[in-house]
Amino acid sequence: MLNDPRDLRIPGPTPVPPQVMEAMQQPMVPHRGAMFATLFAELQEQLKRIHGTKHDVFVIAGTGSAGWEASIVNTLNPGDKVLAIVNGNFGERFVTVAECFGMNVVRLDAEWGKGVHAADVKAALDANPDVRAVLLTHNETSTGVLNPVEAIGKVVREHGALLFVDAVSGLPGAPLEMDAWHCDVVFSGSQKAFMCPPGLSIIAVSDRVWQHTEQAKIPRYMLDFKRMQDALAQGSTPSTAPLTLLYALKAACDMIEAEGMENVIKRHAEQGAYMRAELAKIGLKPIAEAGFESPTVTAAATPDGVTSSEIISAMIERHGIYIAASQGHLRDSVIRIGHMGWTDYPELERTVKALDDVLEHIPAKTVAAD
Ligand code: PLP
Repeated sequence: MLNDPRDLRIPGPTPVPPQVMEAMQQPMVPHRGAMFATLFAELQEQLKRIHGTKHDVFVIAGTGSAGWEASIVNTLNPGDKVLAIVNGNFGERFVTVAECFGMNVVRLDAEWGKGVHAADVKAALDANPDVRAVLLTHNETSTGVLNPVEAIGKVVREHGALLFVDAVSGLPGAPLEMDAWHCDVVFSGSQKAFMCPPGLSIIAVSDRVWQHTEQAKIPRYMLDFKRMQDALAQGSTPSTAPLTLLYALKAACDMIEAEGMENVIKRHAEQGAYMRAELAKIGLKPIAEAGFESPTVTAAATPDGVTSSEIISAMIERHGIYIAASQGHLRDSVIRIGHMGWTDYPELERTVKALDDVLEHIPAKTVAAD
């Protein structure tokens, strides 16, 4: 058990604040009735402001992964060329989904931990003028890298392709202005910086998307944008609305708006900088390239001879604090700490102190085992 709910320092699911927990106590109401329609309409306006969009933001039962699939099946056909920008495990998973639906995937890879440069995206698009969509991870959760969506959005729009942005671990902790930055599909989940339990998929679509939906022939039902749009026009979701989670999301958006998006973004940026600086002081070097550091998650290299699982286990055993390992080839050598959503300095400080203590105790064990 966690000593304190805020000691869940994995990069999602994140701690859920009391206001959101309380909102989930509300009774069920008819999901096609006026009470729900009012809540859903208010939520829609809040989500538009949070995404920086004038267009529809669909909220359905699901998780972040639904966004990968929905963006592709609603706009593309098997054999279509897509440019996938990959600098971590989640970019890799976007490729897996695209390949699953028969896309012709051209990759732009950057070393894990490095950011992606818009100039490289432009060169890749110039070399592949027939690319129909670009797949981009806003905040690469596996490495703690924030990609430059604004600059990439500009070159993608000049080329004319659609831009799909996986903002699962970015929104609303990292800046993302959907319309101004030329994003066509932006998707996230409820369980990260939105401070809610897992279970909602939040998918915003630009008006350009609708020019592609009719000619997109991949069969779809649960993830069909048209059904979502028709339901939204009626004040609901296509299937039974996940009421409890929507109460939660409404309360979380109320908190976000009460704090103000600018302040939310500033807080995350400051807490990210704090975490990187404090980790470096105790010998855990953040791996994100300078200028591309994530405000919501920090990934740091473990000291030589110490594995991420040793650190993670000792953090639980000695301090009841949960952190995560990185993924793929970095799983053993990199740890990750989430600092998104309902997060304040005392728990960040506690985490760093605990890590310092754990590192003091692990080397002896490691050396003895060698
Ligand atoms: N994309 C990113 C960047 C993520 O961090 C995650 C989950 O951590 C996902 C996609 C998948 O989201 P979910 O597990 O909610 O389906």
